[in-house]
Amino acid sequence: MTTPRRVFIKTYGCQMNVYDSERMMDVLRPAGFAPADAPESADLIILNTCHIREKAAEKVYSELGRLRMLKDEREKSGRKTAIAVAGCVAQAEGEAIIARAPVVDFVFGPQSAAELPGLVARLDAGERGMVATDFPADDKFDALGEKSAPAPQVPVTAFLAVQEGCDKFCSFCVVPYTRGAEYSRPAERILREARLLAEKGAREITLLGQNVNAWHGEGTDGRTWTLARLLEALAEIDGLARLRFTTSHPNDMEDDLIAAFGRNDKLMPYLHLPVQSGSDAILKAMNRKHTAADYLRLVEKIRKAREDIALSGDFIVGFPGESEEDFAATMRLVEEADYAQAYSFKYSPRPGTPAAEHADQVAEEVKTARLARLQALLSRQQEDFNARFSGKVMDILLEKPGRYPGQLVGRSPWLQAVHVDAQGRRIGGIVTVRVEKTGKNSLSAHIMDKEAAQG
Ligand code: SF4
Repeated sequence: MTTPRRVFIKTYGCQMNVYDSERMMDVLRPAGFAPADAPESADLIILNTCHIREKAAEKVYSELGRLRMLKDEREKSGRKTAIAVAGCVAQAEGEAIIARAPVVDFVFGPQSAAELPGLVARLDAGERGMVATDFPADDKFDALGEKSAPAPQVPVTAFLAVQEGCDKFCSFCVVPYTRGAEYSRPAERILREARLLAEKGAREITLLGQNVNAWHGEGTDGRTWTLARLLEALAEIDGLARLRFTTSHPNDMEDDLIAAFGRNDKLMPYLHLPVQSGSDAILKAMNRKHTAADYLRLVEKIRKAREDIALSGDFIVGFPGESEEDFAATMRLVEEADYAQAYSFKYSPRPGTPAAEHADQVAEEVKTARLARLQALLSRQQEDFNARFSGKVMDILLEKPGRYPGQLVGRSPWLQAVHVDAQGRRIGGIVTVRVEKTGKNSLSAHIMDKEAAQG
C-alpha cells in the first residue's frame, strides 16, 4: 500500500468556502491524498481564499510569503511541497497570482474544484503555473460527482450547498464576478446528499447559497420546486431534526418560504436577511432594488408567520456618499427591525465593482466612528434578545465539547450557543434544558431529566 500524500487546505471566509474545501478533499482522496494536520506536514497546501474583506489579495500574498519559507525549509530535507491558490481571490486575480508569487504551482477558481485531480496530475508530470478559472459549461456540483468518498466524520451540524452564484449585482460585491450566475442544484441531488449526511450522523443541515432563497429547481415529481418545497422534502429525512438556510435576499423572500417558518417544524426560527443600509438613497446606490420600508414590511410579515424568529443581518457603513442622515436612517432601521445577531463592516472598495469607482468615498475616521455606534446598538440588541430566554425551557442540539470536562456546547433553535454540564450525554443528542444565565454571546443552561422528543 502506498503512503497517502498529505494535503492541508486553509479556508478563509464564508461557509460556501468551507463546503468547497470539503469537496476538494472529497476529490483528492481517490487521487491518493489524506488530510494533513498542519502545513508543515503537507505535500500540497491549498489556500481557499475569500475576496470579501478589505485587502483580501494582499493578505493572500503575505501568507504566500510565509509558505515560501516553509517550502524552502521542507525542500532542505528533501520533501517537496506544492502550493495552490483557490477560491474567490484566485478567480479575481488569476494569472496575476502566478506572476507575483512564483511559489504558487497552480491557481483554480471556485467553479473548477473538480479539475483538482487533473491539475495535480499535470503538476506531477512537471507542469507548473496552471490557471483554471473558466466558468465551466457543466455545473460544478455535477462535475464534483456524488459525495461518496469513504466516510469522513460528518459533524452533527452539516452544510449542504444548494445554490451558487448571484445575478443581483449589488454595486459593492464581487460574488457575481467570482461565483458566476445564479445556479440551483436539482432537488434530487440535494436530497441524496442530505440523506447521506443524515446516515453519517448529521442532525442539522444548513442549506447554503449566496442567494439561497432564490433556489428553485426540478423537484422529484417533475414540477418546479421552491425552497419551501425543498425544505418540506428534507424534513421527511429520517434522523434529520433541524433545517436552516443562509444567505437570503429580501427580494426573494416569497410567501411560501415565509409560511414555512410557521408550518415546517424542522425549520428553525432563525433567518439571516441582510439589508446593508437603512437609507433608501444608499440602497439605490448599492443596487439593492428594495427600500428600507420594503424590508421592514417583510420583517413584520415574517414575524407574523413565526413570532419568535431570531433575525440576523449584514450592514455596510460608510458606503460612498453615505451622509450623517443616511447613517441615522440605518440606526432607525436597526431599532425597528430588532436583531438577534448581525454582522457589520466598514465599506471597503473591491476592485472591479462599480462602487469602488465612486468619487465620494467616506473618510476612514467617519466610517470607524459610525461602525462603533452601529455595533454598540447591535450588541445591545443581541444581549437583550438573549436575556429574554432567562428561565426558559428549550431543546438544544449537543454539538461539540465545551471548555471544561463534562461540558458540551449545544445550539438553541435560535442559533444561540448554549453551555451545559452534560455528563453522560452524547454529541448529536437533543436535550431539553432550562436556561440559567444569559450573556451577549451565549447562554448557560442545565439539562432537565426529560429527553427531548424532537427529532
Ligand atoms: S445579493 Fe449578495 S451575493 Fe448577490 S451581489 Fe448582492 S451582496 Fe453579493
